[in-house]
Amino acid sequence: MTVLAITEHRRGDVRDVSYELVTAGRELADDLGTDLELAVIGGDVEGFADDVNRDGVDTIYTVDEGEEFNHGVYTQAIEQLATEVEPTALLMPNSVNGLDYAPAVAEGLDLPLVTDVVDFETNGNLEVTREQYGGKVETTYDIDADDYALTIRPAEWPKAEAAGDAAIEAFDADIDESALGTTVNGFEEVGGGDVDITEADVLVSIGRGIDEEENLPLVEELADTLGATLSSSRPIVDNGWLPKNRQVGQSGKVVTPDVYIAIGISGAVQHVAGMKGADTIVAINTDPNAPIYDIADYGIVDDLFDVVPELIEEFGGEAPDL
Ligand SMILES: Cc1cc2nc3c(=O)[nH]c(=O)nc-3n(C[C@H](O)[C@H](O)[C@H](O)COP(=O)(O)OP(=O)(O)OC[C@H]3O[C@@H](n4cnc5c(N)ncnc54)[C@H](O)[C@@H]3O)c2cc1C
Repeated sequence: MTVLAITEHRRGDVRDVSYELVTAGRELADDLGTDLELAVIGGDVEGFADDVNRDGVDTIYTVDEGEEFNHGVYTQAIEQLATEVEPTALLMPNSVNGLDYAPAVAEGLDLPLVTDVVDFETNGNLEVTREQYGGKVETTYDIDADDYALTIRPAEWPKAEAAGDAAIEAFDADIDESALGTTVNGFEEVGGGDVDITEADVLVSIGRGIDEEENLPLVEELADTLGATLSSSRPIVDNGWLPKNRQVGQSGKVVTPDVYIAIGISGAVQHVAGMKGADTIVAINTDPNAPIYDIADYGIVDDLFDVVPELIEEFGGEAPDL
């Protein structure tokens, strides 16, 4: 019996969700009274194994196959590793990659799969919690099985920080190249260049309160002045004013910056789902009853076209003429 968590990396860096999986995996392993094991697949497996060697991890398996994510390689490698170590719980990230291979792996290993898990509790059986209807309802599932697979929502568990002393073991997967089905020819970011809002420490986020695309330079200048990254609510992306990779929320990205400045954003549940994990939330909104104020640490109930220029000047920038 063990808990096996699959880590994730992209373009040479371990992704934050891997460290969150260590925390979630350790919590589950403690509840079950068992070990926590990790798998690192592809790329610089030795370097990645060092990175994810955090306190509470017992063993890290390195699978030296390929450079970037490949569905067939991951599916085959995880199935073979799981067949060998026989995990009670197989944890995978609820990321684009994780959701690509998790169903195939669960099917191959004949495991029940619950995706997008935000909490769990062991109570005889395992009970897992998911959100539904855009985060308005939480549903608890009672898993009636000894072994199971879960995908863990990013940013729900804190990142494991402390260094560990896990055993590192190479696992030789027998990859059937003829059954891969796909090859990876390169890596291309879609729209917005290489900006990754999930990595930003400070986000200046703009919503429909900005009114017109012509007003965007105002918040761009604030972001520049603060050394922050610009993100937005969905209407801004739907209008084509910013690329999709800037969208925060349920159908956008989940972000966990130190500071999130929500400007002219009402705080709809689908938006909040993507930013409620920010350490400090600052809201600027003319409507004192806007739901964003329910979760904001600081609020400025005023017109953004008055407040933002003052902030820019306060922090040493120069507000543009609109
Ligand atoms: C399936 C589904 C998925 C969705 N996914 C997402 C998602 O991922 N991300 C997302 O953001 N939304 C998402 N939405 C949309 C979501 O429901 C909201 O419509 C959206 O978040 C609202 O964006 P907003 O806050 O910018 O606009 P609004 O709700 O229109 O709010 C604008 C705010 O600006 C304020 N304001 C106006 N003028 C000013 C001013 N001059 N100064 C200061 N404040 C001002 C207003 O008081 C208001 O509170 C989704 C919806 C569905 C149905």
